[in-house]
Amino acid sequence: MAECPICKGKLKVITKKESGDLAYIKCENQKTEKQGSNFVEVGKCKFKINFKTKYYQIDKVQMKNLLDGSEIEIKDGNLLKLDLENEMFTKIDFVDKYDEDDF
Ligand SMILES: [Zn+2]
Repeated sequence: MAECPICKGKLKVITKKESGDLAYIKCENQKTEKQGSNFVEVGKCKFKINFKTKYYQIDKVQMKNLLDGSEIEIKDGNLLKLDLENEMFTKIDFVDKYDEDDF
């Protein structure tokens, strides 16, 4: 059982009820509440990482490795890392795909 890198709470895997698809992991102390038309963070901890965004899709093993501090290779050779300072708790190192030459 992995623990939250911020508050040491238990981590939970959240899956979609209908499809069973992996959605995200979150800290047991993370909680959002709908206030009007917005979802607001109301828990003691905000830790949460998506399994899928427009930049990457990872599985449970990769998520575990990410939490252990490994860099995960995602699309186009870009690297996904844990970054607790970031709002998304991850950071992507984009590989430079361009060359420059005189014109
Ligand atoms: Zn936490």
